[in-house]
Amino acid sequence: CGIVGYIGNREAYPVIIKGLKRLEYRGYDSAGVVLYDGTGLKLAKTKGKVSDLEEKAAKEISTGGSIGIGHTRWATHGVPNDVNSHPHFSNSGNIAIVHNGIIENYEPLKKELKKRGYTFQSDTDTEVLANLIEDVKKKDNLKIGKAVQVALNQVVGAYAIAVFDKEKPDEIVCARLGSPLAIGVGKDEFFVASDASPFIEYTSNAIYLEDEEMAIISLGKPMKIRKIKDDSLVDPYIQELQI
Ligand code: GLU
Repeated sequence: CGIVGYIGNREAYPVIIKGLKRLEYRGYDSAGVVLYDGTGLKLAKTKGKVSDLEEKAAKEISTGGSIGIGHTRWATHGVPNDVNSHPHFSNSGNIAIVHNGIIENYEPLKKELKKRGYTFQSDTDTEVLANLIEDVKKKDNLKIGKAVQVALNQVVGAYAIAVFDKEKPDEIVCARLGSPLAIGVGKDEFFVASDASPFIEYTSNAIYLEDEEMAIISLGKPMKIRKIKDDSLVDPYIQELQI
């Protein structure tokens, strides 16, 4: 399973596809990508290989856009099929998420969200997190970064996530607890991935998130890394990768 995200000036799609292929060694049963081209979110996802995703994306979406998040799934909740593949959207369709790991308390959270009117298309724990983020965001009128933080504090389990919100389209929010996540820091561009292999050809500067840390990567702004629990800021430690 793996995550690749991109925000910058390049075409995101080829970076993500190539990156997902580099992460294939981690094992997976499905693959998907969501791209943002300045107007709408474009989603392609499928059971099968990254090459199956490429075929499907070529048929179904225009692959332009310089922001995107991609995923290879190792199913834990819900069988491997197209619907259960990531990315998942919140009910509004504004928030897209990719996730590696397990949300252990997804059942009570899902029950509560259903009571509040949310509906679910997939059997995954991940879609619950998408709607939980949306719910806290709306309830308390929060920005996406804060909403992700508040939601994660209600979650028991393990995760590496990358989240994109159409209402804050210059940002990707990512976080980890128990599953790895690295951020590649380029010039006017950022990468996020399960390990550095998807971005090593573009930048040798990497930040490895520690457990219980989240990062807001936004274009033209210094990166903010904070502790999910107590909200304290962490100084980003940039490692020079040996190429
Ligand atoms: N628990 C999630 C799912 O089953 C994520 C699995 C993964 O780590 O790829 O969809």
